Amino acid sequence: MTDAQEAFWSRVHKTDTCWKWTGGTRGNGYGTYWVDGKRYYAHRYSYYLTYGVMPAGVILHHCDNPICIRPDHLSDGTQADNVLDMWAKGRGSAPPLHVGEAHHQTRLTAADILRIRTRYTAGASQQALADQYGLARSTVGKIVRGQSWRHVHAQTKAAA
Ligand SMILES: [Zn+2]
Repeated sequence: MTDAQEAFWSRVHKTDTCWKWTGGTRGNGYGTYWVDGKRYYAHRYSYYLTYGVMPAGVILHHCDNPICIRPDHLSDGTQADNVLDMWAKGRGSAPPLHVGEAHHQTRLTAADILRIRTRYTAGASQQALADQYGLARSTVGKIVRGQSWRHVHAQTKAAA
């Protein structure tokens, strides 16, 4: 864990249910967190630290508790159906702090992952995909085998 991550998680009060943000807040009840001169919503930053991608859309709180930043209480609104589906199947337990190739330098998005898997299924070689996305072939292998980015699941039309 980096210093920045430790600084973030040290402001979190974890309970058996919600993880409450104890840092600054905005008037609307959401926590806020400053990083490198930018202010983020704490729940969005928690999602970023956990999944390695800044959510493209709105973040939904399953617990309806704006101050909560517990990653498994949050979902990217654009994947809400998918996440709800996962929860319904009982696989919504707390994710590890880092999922997949989730690091600051990672430029891959969930959409890229779905595209890589779709193209692989359609016959593209792992090496071709690695070249296209600037990745190691072994990284592509992990993606297409579902060993990394496990939280990204294709929906019927999502990977077109
Ligand atoms: Zn919560």
